[in-house]
Amino acid sequence: MNTETDYMDKEAEANPAMPANFIEVIINEDIKTGKYGSRVHTRFPPEPNGYLHIGHAKSICLNFGLALKYGGKCNLRFDDTNPTKEDVEYVDSIQEDVKWLGFDWDDRKYYASDYFEKIYQYTVELIKKGKAYVCDLSAEEMRQYRGTLTEPGTESPYRSRTIAENLALFEKMKAGEFAEGSRVLRAKIDMSSPNLNMRDPVLYRIIRAKHHRTGDTWCIYPMYDYAHPISDSIEGVTHSICTLEFEDHRPLYDWTLAALGIYQCQQIEFARLNLTNTIMSKRYLRRLVEEGYVSDWDDPRMPTISGLRRRGFTPAAIRDFCDRIGVAKSNSTVDVALLEHCIREDLNGQASRVMAVLKPLKLIIDNYPAGQVEELIAENNPENPAMGTRTIPFSREIYIEQDDFMENPPKKFFRLAPGAEVRLKHAYIIKCEQVVKDEQTGEIVAVHCTYDPETRSGSGTANRKVKGVLHWVSAAHAGKAEVRLYDYLLTSQQDQEDEGAEAKDFVDRLNPNSLERLVDCLVEPSIKMPPVGSRFQFLRCGYFAVDRDSVPGKPVFNRIISLKDSWAKLDKKRLGL
Ligand code: ATP
Ligand code: MG
Repeated sequence: MNTETDYMDKEAEANPAMPANFIEVIINEDIKTGKYGSRVHTRFPPEPNGYLHIGHAKSICLNFGLALKYGGKCNLRFDDTNPTKEDVEYVDSIQEDVKWLGFDWDDRKYYASDYFEKIYQYTVELIKKGKAYVCDLSAEEMRQYRGTLTEPGTESPYRSRTIAENLALFEKMKAGEFAEGSRVLRAKIDMSSPNLNMRDPVLYRIIRAKHHRTGDTWCIYPMYDYAHPISDSIEGVTHSICTLEFEDHRPLYDWTLAALGIYQCQQIEFARLNLTNTIMSKRYLRRLVEEGYVSDWDDPRMPTISGLRRRGFTPAAIRDFCDRIGVAKSNSTVDVALLEHCIREDLNGQASRVMAVLKPLKLIIDNYPAGQVEELIAENNPENPAMGTRTIPFSREIYIEQDDFMENPPKKFFRLAPGAEVRLKHAYIIKCEQVVKDEQTGEIVAVHCTYDPETRSGSGTANRKVKGVLHWVSAAHAGKAEVRLYDYLLTSQQDQEDEGAEAKDFVDRLNPNSLERLVDCLVEPSIKMPPVGSRFQFLRCGYFAVDRDSVPGKPVFNRIISLKDSWAKLDKKRLGL
C-alpha cells in the first residue's frame, strides 16, 4: 500500500478547480516571476519537546501537501536549539506521526543542531561586519533597556565594544569561560525600532545542558529566531511557512539573511488551528500528562496525533479535515464537530457493522427451543456490499441493552416494554411477556419474551413492521469486552486565541466525565479476538477501535465517535435544508 501516492492521486482528482489559497497565490506568483526558478521547497520544523497534535497535522498537511502539489520537496527538520526541553523520545514519535499521516521526507531529515558549527561560523562573520556584540547586561536590565511599545529602548553600554573585543568575548563564551546567563550575543540593529523584536535581539545564549544530539560539545546555543532563517537558507527552502505569532518576527528573519548575505527564503504566516473543547499547546498537553489528568501523550482523549491514532482516527480523516479547514490569515476556532464528521464519513464505507451490548440485560425467549442455535446471516456493511456477510448465532437466551427496556415507558418509546413488540436485528420479532426483578433491590434482572417464528429477517412476505429494532448478542456465544467511552477533555469553550486565559484556567475546565469505562460488555463472536487497531461500527452505539490494552479473552474497544453527526445537522441548517 502506498498511502502517499494514493493521496496524491486523490488530491489531484478532488481539487482540480479548488481556488488557490493565499499561500498558493504567493507561490504561483513566485513561479511566474521565477523568484526561485520553478522550485517549491518547504519544511516542517517541529521542536522535539513534546508529541505532535492536530494543529501540527495542519502544518504537516500544508507543507508536505504544497510540495506534492507543486512537484517540490518538503524537509523534516527538528528545531532542536533548546537542549533543556528536548528529547529523542519526541524525535521518534514525531517521525512516526508524520509517516502515519501519509507523508514522506525521503532522505531529507535534518536537525538544526547539525548546523551549530555553520551557524557559529556565520556568526563570527556577522561580528566581523560589526553587526553583533557581546552584551553583559542581566536579563532584568535588558528588559528595562528594551523600552515598551510606546517608548524607544536604550542602547546597551556594551553596544560600542570593538569588533576585536566582541570576537574575543564570543570565543570565550563558546569555550565555556563564562557562567550561564552572564553574557549574550546580540544583533546590533535598532533600539528605537517600533518592532520590539528588532531592538538588538539576543542571538546566542549560554546554556550548560546536555543536548540530545551534540552532548556537551556546545555551551552556547543560537536563539530560535536566529537559527531558523539560517537553517531554512542552508536547506534552500523557498517558502518558510509558520504560524501567525511569528509575523512580527519576520523583519528579523529577513534581517538575519540579509546581514549574513546568504540565500534568502521568505517567511509566510498562516493562522494556527484552534479547536473547540480542547487545548492545543504542547506545554499544556505536557501538564495534562505530567499531572496525571490523562494516562499518557497517546491517551485517546488527547488532541495529539498519537492519541487520535489510538482512539481509532484514520490518517485519511485527519487529512480530509485539514483540507476542509483550509488556510487563513486570521485566527479562529474550528468546531471539533467537523473533525468528528470527517472520521464518520471515512469509516461509514469501510467499518464492519457488528453487534455489541455495552450494558447487558438478560432476555429469555420462552417459546424458542432450548439448545437450538440458528446461524443468521448478517451483512457486514450495507453501504458497501462488497464487504460481504457473516453468520451470527441466535439462541434462546440473549442479551440486549438495559436502556432498550423500560417497564413504564413514556409515549414514543419504541423499544422494548411490557406487551410491546420489537425486532431483533437480523433475527425475529419478539414480544415482552414478563419482567423479573431482584427481590431485595427491585432491580430488573431479566425479561421474558416470546418470538414469532414467521418473522425471521429476510424471510419475506409474512413480515410486519415494528418501530424498534434492537441489537443483541447470544448469551452462550458472546465474548467479554471492555468498552471505553470518551467525552471532551474540556467542558466549555474559552477564547483559545488568548493563550494566557487558557493557561490560567484550563485545569478548572477539565471535564470530570471525559472517560467512562464499561468492563462487563458483551460482543458477538466475530469480534472476540480482533486485531489491535481494527475498527468497527457497533450497531446503534458508534464507531470503535481495538485498543492496545486488549488481552486474550478481553478485547478493549475505544469509542472513536458516536453515530450522531452534529456537524451534518449544523451544515444542513446553514445551507437552509
Ligand atoms: P506548541 O505551542 O504546541 O508547542 P509550537 O508552534 O511551539 O506549538 P513547534 O514544534 O515549534 O510547536 O511547531 C512545528 C510547526 O507546527 C511550526 O511550523 C508551527 O507553526 C506549526 N504549528 C504548531 N501548532 C500549530 C497549530 N495549532 N496550527 C497550525 N500549525 C501549528
Ligand atoms: Mg514551540
